[in-house]
Amino acid sequence: MKTLKTVRIRSLKLTTRKYKKISYVLTCFKESVNFLIEKCVENAYFQKVSKKGTSYFDYSSYPKIRKSFYFEWKSLFPQLHTHYCHSSARITKDILKSWNTWCFKKRRCLDNPAYKRNSMKLERCLCHLKGNYIVLVIEPRRKLYIPFQPSNHYNLLKTENHGEITLKINPNRTVDIFIPFITEVKIKEWKSLTSIDINERSIDLITLYPTTSEITRIDTSNISTTHYTYSLKRKTIANRIDNGVKYQPLTRKQLLSKYGKIERNKTKNDLHEIANKVNKIINKHASLVIMEDLTNIRQINSRQKNLKKWQQRKSKNIRRRLNRWNFKQFQQYLDYKATSTGHLVEYQNPRNTSKKCLKCGKLTPCKTQIFVCKHCGFTINRQIQAPINIAKKYLTNRLKNFNKHKNVASPVPAEMQLMKIMLGELREFKEHIIRDASHYDELYHSISILST
Ligand SMILES: [Zn+2]
Repeated sequence: MKTLKTVRIRSLKLTTRKYKKISYVLTCFKESVNFLIEKCVENAYFQKVSKKGTSYFDYSSYPKIRKSFYFEWKSLFPQLHTHYCHSSARITKDILKSWNTWCFKKRRCLDNPAYKRNSMKLERCLCHLKGNYIVLVIEPRRKLYIPFQPSNHYNLLKTENHGEITLKINPNRTVDIFIPFITEVKIKEWKSLTSIDINERSIDLITLYPTTSEITRIDTSNISTTHYTYSLKRKTIANRIDNGVKYQPLTRKQLLSKYGKIERNKTKNDLHEIANKVNKIINKHASLVIMEDLTNIRQINSRQKNLKKWQQRKSKNIRRRLNRWNFKQFQQYLDYKATSTGHLVEYQNPRNTSKKCLKCGKLTPCKTQIFVCKHCGFTINRQIQAPINIAKKYLTNRLKNFNKHKNVASPVPAEMQLMKIMLGELREFKEHIIRDASHYDELYHSISILST
């Protein structure tokens, strides 16, 4: 399996001649991307109209864009290497794709997109590593050498194979260089199974071994409190400046961006710590990781148009809280940390996993922390219930769709045997929890780790 790790290094201070040359290439690159975007938007060949009347793009392939506009591009930018056309076509494809999804989400045609960034992502034949230099090709047989000082982090992660390099130009005559290094990782055989349920104030995981099982709870309430405190701060800033206070040391936009940055950095740091903790557990038991597939969850909670306040599905405060919750960031961090050490990560649809009763298997809607079954009266903390249901759903699905599953490689007989053993262990563990649920509930509030 291939993994990507990106390293950022800053170049040495360049001479004015080199700096001018690079900034000239960047302006040309920006113009070429904007030219291609304009052409795509104009051209009816790429534009399609959906049933509802909104127009969308056929962005399926970047060669299509390159082929149809290459000769026009070459007449406009004769000074550049041909491969700049390919790189800019790739970026236009990405921009149009994200623009397209936003048009669908907002259900109207948004303004035409534009490329405003101060950076360029170039193909390997235009930009590559050579010793302590980055070689940038401007025209055929005309190269520009950008020197840099290798850092410790760079030396640690350096491999021979690298992907598309991004160059970002700073005003103080330096260039930020982002190099993604590709490494081959061997997948280890899994011996246990970990399923992870992400909640607003905690992360719950169960680890199943062939003989025993364990529930672990990691407290993440400090993340939601930082979100809350910074939201209050930003609110007061916005209010004060609205009220027209005379003396303003910084403008509203600057202040808001400053506090936003601090908030983002704090949560990032906390999330890395939690992901490291979880990764330690995974490494210790050599387990397969199962997480919830939470795509499109924000659309479920979003504000419904043309409805009044009391008709909304969720209140404004709850919507704000849920939209601040950064589950995807945590999943990304854990994903790359686990895959870089050779553990597989799989995603499972979490539908109804916290509503399903452990005892009778029927569904009951649950709005509080404690789950009470309508049918059999079984009560339990719902955060214990969710990871067990996720693991069960995954195992039964994999065993059922033995031949049908297309995206995931079908399990080998030894793996199937292990899955069957795990399912049996899960059943036993479930019965153990059902027997003394109240005991587990009490323990769950006091002690963070418990085992059977
Ligand atoms: Zn029940």
